Amino acid sequence: MKPGAKYFEWEGLGVPVRLEIGPRDLASGQVVLARRTGGKAPVSLQDATAAVTRALDEIQASLFAAALERREKNSIRGATKAQFLEFIQGGGGFAYGGFCGQGSCEAEIKAETNATIRVLPDPEFRSKEVPKTCMWCGAPSIAEAVWAQAY
Ligand SMILES: [Zn+2]
Repeated sequence: MKPGAKYFEWEGLGVPVRLEIGPRDLASGQVVLARRTGGKAPVSLQDATAAVTRALDEIQASLFAAALERREKNSIRGATKAQFLEFIQGGGGFAYGGFCGQGSCEAEIKAETNATIRVLPDPEFRSKEVPKTCMWCGAPSIAEAVWAQAY
C-alpha cells in the first residue's frame, strides 16, 4: 500500500495524528508528526511522546471549544414565553428556561410547539442566572429545563 492510500484509510477511520518514521528521519533522530486535520512538523525522537500528547490535548481542546460554541449558538437562555415561541418556531435549538414542574405547562408547551424537556441540566450546565419563574406560566420555577423539538 502506498503512503497516500494508507494515510487516507487511517484518516477515514478518524485517527487524529500519525508519526511518519522513515530511515532518514531515524538517522537524524527525528520523526514527523502529522495531524489528520492538516499540518505536519518534525519532532525529535526523544520528544515524540510528549509531542503526541500535546497534539492530542490541543485537538481535544479545539473540538470541545467548537462544540461548546455550536451549542451556545443554537441555544437561548432565560427566554420569555414570547421569545421561546419565536425561537422554537423559527428553526429552534435548545431553549433554557424556568419550569414550574406542572404537567399542565409541559403538556401545553408540547401541544403548542411540539417541544419537550430534553434535560434538567446539572449545575455546571445551567445558566449563570437561574430563572426564577416558569417561562410559560410565570409561577415560581422549581428547575431550569432545556426545551427542544425532537427531529
Ligand atoms: Zn409553568
